[in-house]
Amino acid sequence: MPDLIQLLPDSIANQIAAGEVVQRPASVVKELVENALDAGASRIQVILREAGKSFIQVVDNGSGMSDTDARLSIERHATSKIRRAEDLFTLRTMGFRGEALASIAAVAQVEIRTRLGSRELGTALTVEASQVKQQEPVACETGTRITVRNLFYNIPARRNFLKSNAVELLQIQHEFTRLALAHSDKSFQLIHHDEILYDLPPGKLSQRIVNLFGKTYQQQLAPCLEETSLIKISGYLGRPEAARKKKDEQFLFVNSRFVRSHYLSYAVRDAFAGLIPPDTHPFFVLFIEIDPRHIDVNVHPTKTEIKFDDERAVYAVVSAAARQALGARNLAPSIDFAADVNLVSKLQSAPVSRQQYFDEQFGSLSQNNRRNWEKMFEGERPTVRGEFSEQVTISRTESFEHQQLEPAFPNALSLFQFRGRFIFFPYGNAVRVVDQQAAHERILFEKFLRQLHSKQVHAQQLMFPVTTALSPADFAMVWELETELRALGFQLEPFGKDTLLISAVPAEATGREHKLLEELLEQFKNNQQRLNLPIQEKLAAALAKRAGLTAGKPLTPEEMRALIHQLFACSQPAFTPEGNPTFFQLETTNIERYFNP
Ligand code: ADP
Ligand code: MG
Repeated sequence: MPDLIQLLPDSIANQIAAGEVVQRPASVVKELVENALDAGASRIQVILREAGKSFIQVVDNGSGMSDTDARLSIERHATSKIRRAEDLFTLRTMGFRGEALASIAAVAQVEIRTRLGSRELGTALTVEASQVKQQEPVACETGTRITVRNLFYNIPARRNFLKSNAVELLQIQHEFTRLALAHSDKSFQLIHHDEILYDLPPGKLSQRIVNLFGKTYQQQLAPCLEETSLIKISGYLGRPEAARKKKDEQFLFVNSRFVRSHYLSYAVRDAFAGLIPPDTHPFFVLFIEIDPRHIDVNVHPTKTEIKFDDERAVYAVVSAAARQALGARNLAPSIDFAADVNLVSKLQSAPVSRQQYFDEQFGSLSQNNRRNWEKMFEGERPTVRGEFSEQVTISRTESFEHQQLEPAFPNALSLFQFRGRFIFFPYGNAVRVVDQQAAHERILFEKFLRQLHSKQVHAQQLMFPVTTALSPADFAMVWELETELRALGFQLEPFGKDTLLISAVPAEATGREHKLLEELLEQFKNNQQRLNLPIQEKLAAALAKRAGLTAGKPLTPEEMRALIHQLFACSQPAFTPEGNPTFFQLETTNIERYFNP
């Protein structure tokens, strides 16, 4: 019997290897951009046609290659990045396998134009299906320009396997986003059919996030920083308000390499427990720096999986860092159980009803003050009372809202209003400062939302109905939003061309019935672009902003107490619907630091 085993020709071996490295245009973009980064480029341009299916070009201003290196770069296992097996354990570059260019050149028509800074001429190399067609000297810029045409032209089965241009382009955008996030100090451009999809100047990470995801993110980032002897963590968490239904805005990088880790994502998610609804996911961009000796990136050819030798330790640090970031910004107000004696005794005592608790806290309100207060929060008290009548057990394991209720009641002596805007009061081991306008906005927002969902209207009939002339567009919008506007307490009728007759307004808006609807529409239109929320939430947010208590209004101690009580009874007390903080907290340790720096 003759021998059957033969060595495969390189071109076939490369095609097989290509199956692992190059699945779609996005993988080509990723490999080429990573090579540019490894070559020290500070400016990287990605140019596409047909979502990369027919044309991908990556231009960089990196080191460039010599003629010989350019020729070698398309050979399998040809790499300048590791020389010895040990190097694998101290890896600092993105590439190391030396198979990307070889794989790409096996399944496309590739042109490499490159020049070393020290040479006058560069070289242009053309390869098709692993066959070098031509190499000649050319005049070109320092750096490298690699063009990949007609991906999978020689493997029709794989070409047919590609998805629609929209899907492939989206994949490219995902890869591009990850790379751009990991290297905010470099400039990036993504161009598709002459349209500039992204033009990212070099800058800080926060700026890069805003440039990639939009201005709304500007207000929503909580910096995260933690350093231990094992790892360093840096980056940003999205505030709870920015949490999404989809998980696709979670970015974890280990030594600048994007990785997927359910385990570590969970470590971050854990820190948000109680702050965001269970079916949502926080936004984050986190960087872990760790000695490469403690990781193994060689577990998967596309290299988005990673192994840590001490996964648990990493989990603990990530989770602590996330908590710290949220706590430091008072997103998750930390409750110091030991310090608050009253609280501890409450926790140990028998279950109390919310009604009982409410009466205890508010029993001292004089009738007069109560009435004053009720004027300001017309319709609010009964709802809160209603909620309080159910039986609850206040215990350490209670959900976030309940814990919030407890210590949030300062007594009248210990709080004061500052400049008609801020309310100060002691809280456990700290002093809390509440922005009264922001707090009222949050309270009204949640109240309006409840109204919208329960259809329980708190309207105030106007003695003298008013008419308002609107622009045709606003007039049309009113009828689109009619159901919601009614649920909020507006009673509206058409009254001639583009004019409305308003016969009732939300009960909170006493004294502002004329302007309120116009202001609400204006605010709603603003929010339309800025807030990524369902219509009802946008309306509730807009109305809360317009109907709310204004800064500068003097409040009695009882009013302040009630405001604070209602704020911390909210499901998300720490932020306005737009994501601005409603309060912050000054810890004793921070105060002490002023005196003993
Ligand atoms: P790897 O990145 O794993 O080393 P590649 O196949 O991606 O393997 O690249 C092979 C080699 O080609 C690299 O090690 C590098 O020396 C060279 N190279 C590739 N792209 C560039 C570039 N844009 N600029 C400079 N050198 C490059
Ligand atoms: Mg590479």
